[in-house]
Amino acid sequence: MTSTAESDLLAAVPDGLLIGGRWRPGAAGRTLSVEDPSTGDTLKTIADADPADGMAALDAAVAASAEWAATPARARGEILRRAFDLVQERREDVALLMTLEMGKPLAEARGEVTYGAEFLRWFSEEAVRVTGRYGPNPEGTGRMIVSQHPVGPCYLITPWNFPLAMATRKIAPALAAGCTVVVKPAAQTPLTTLYLARLLQDAGLPDGVVNVITTSTSGAVSEPIIADPRLRKLSFTGSTPVGRKLLEQSAPGVLRTSMELGGNAPFVIFDDADLDRAVEGALAAKFRNIGQACTAANRFIVHSSVAGEFARRVTAAVNGFVIGRGTEPGVTIGPLVDGNAVTKAEALVKDAVARGAELTTGGSRIDGPGTFFEPTVLTGVAPGSDILREEIFGPVLAIATFDTEDEAVALANDTEYGLVSYVYTESLARGQRMIDRLETGMMGLNVGVVSNAAAPFGGWKMSGLGREGGAEGIHEYLQTKYTLTPA
Ligand code: NAP
Repeated sequence: MTSTAESDLLAAVPDGLLIGGRWRPGAAGRTLSVEDPSTGDTLKTIADADPADGMAALDAAVAASAEWAATPARARGEILRRAFDLVQERREDVALLMTLEMGKPLAEARGEVTYGAEFLRWFSEEAVRVTGRYGPNPEGTGRMIVSQHPVGPCYLITPWNFPLAMATRKIAPALAAGCTVVVKPAAQTPLTTLYLARLLQDAGLPDGVVNVITTSTSGAVSEPIIADPRLRKLSFTGSTPVGRKLLEQSAPGVLRTSMELGGNAPFVIFDDADLDRAVEGALAAKFRNIGQACTAANRFIVHSSVAGEFARRVTAAVNGFVIGRGTEPGVTIGPLVDGNAVTKAEALVKDAVARGAELTTGGSRIDGPGTFFEPTVLTGVAPGSDILREEIFGPVLAIATFDTEDEAVALANDTEYGLVSYVYTESLARGQRMIDRLETGMMGLNVGVVSNAAAPFGGWKMSGLGREGGAEGIHEYLQTKYTLTPA
């Protein structure tokens, strides 16, 4: 059951598609329902786009493209900055909306508002810092001008796990660079993006610069957009298998792409680590977002001399967690996104136990309404266990052990992913060796959460292509032109 405050907020969320500045139903009149994962109740019914709607959204982005690209960077930045202020003003609403549709505890949702809004502010500032180069060529026969230009209309596909931040991390740099966009949030959590789009309108964004399509048929709607030669860029955040499929679809048109894909983060604790800090970092890296983060620590690789003590301390902390609907005071663990996620967590735990791991707490699904899984700790996870290879995406902390530094490095790098790694050691020299030796796009050295709008977020290997955030983020939406003039 939703409360009155929740019902009022849900009523304020647009239920249409945003195309060319107008909110409208899907062409075929279809609708889709968004559910509360903690109860299974329908929160809201919204428009369900079909391929014709997707093409209409692309038409609108193309039509608005030239004027937006010609809008002064300062003016683009000021709209983003106003949008940042509006998200701050409505931060409680945005947080509650994320908790309702995604399930994370309200305190974490508030944290995501801070993190997600920051992309609007950061790129409002970066918009005016796009510069080029000018200089003589080495032969002295000409002058070289290197300039940056918006790449053009973009298609942005976001996942369900961070409904605000995954949207702002793409929309803000695209707009700052002078690109127009079509945004497609995940069908499970589209409400935050719809609410954000309304705030962008309120901030003064011209019609057609941001278009939003929500759909239950993401493949059918996306394929023609990606195949259209007027589209100049695809930016995707989601799983590696879907990312690979979208790369294949992008190949015929040699479409520029950014891919923020899956992870399998190692969390390495050496025998010289500060164990208090390591436990604190481990709990944040593992249980934030109920374990459903691409940056979630997936494999705890712990020196055998401290593994027992580490397991004892994290188990005690996990036993103090409060499970429930994210809106309830004190709740620290909400539901998983759906029944498939529960089934997957259960299967991974079962496989690990069958191969000799020991459960120190949790391990089971929780019956009743909603899709809850107990926060779980496994020790002595054997090499070859599925849980060490696959992205868990649930509240399961799996501990394996090592004895030498070389062994730790080999275990940490033994994955096709390379998004983020966490290392705990009090030795500066060892920390520096880990920076050199770990195959990873990001690293937390004695830190359990690395995400920051000012940092280049992205992975190595099958974790993706490109970077979001930082000074790098805007360049994903810019293309370079070199011009030669006579000396
Ligand atoms: P997903 O199933 O790959 O879906 C991601 C997005 O792609 C959703 O909007 C989804 O829409 C859409 N989609 C699915 N199939 C598609 C298709 N054939 N064509 C076009 N779009 C399609 O991933 P998810 O389960 O939502 O998110 C979890 C994954 O995202 C994890 O692997 C996680 O590591 C990764 N992730 C990575 C980062 C990063 O920055 N590297 C950040 C967050 C999450 P529908 O769901 O509506 O079909």
